[in-house]
Amino acid sequence: MTNFYLETLVRLGRVSSDWRLLEMSCRDVPDGYLRMKGAIPTGVYRSGKRKGRCKFPKQLDTHWITDADVESTKFIYEQTTGKCHECEGTGKSWCGWGVDTGHRYKDCPRCNASGVTPKEVRAG
Ligand SMILES: [Zn+2]
Repeated sequence: MTNFYLETLVRLGRVSSDWRLLEMSCRDVPDGYLRMKGAIPTGVYRSGKRKGRCKFPKQLDTHWITDADVESTKFIYEQTTGKCHECEGTGKSWCGWGVDTGHRYKDCPRCNASGVTPKEVRAG
């Protein structure tokens, strides 16, 4: 799945594609803003419980983006791929998970399960 929040930071040139998003919050921030924290991994744990997982510096970077920035990223995605950003072209949208059922999906309401960018969004 595309992480449109992370994509937004990369698109705005705030972070490189090596950067990993670790924390995201819209609490205690101004309306329409998102606070994102993360870092570029410094290495990988070679042993112990966290073996194979990335190591990060103690001090994470903080970046701010707005809802509008994220909307633009989704818009650009749709213009360049022709796919619906909600379901990323699959026509299915995730609607839950259960231990017995696994991931549950329903028809994507944005594109009517077609997977393509809705007409009114498409340029021309
Ligand atoms: Zn869709």
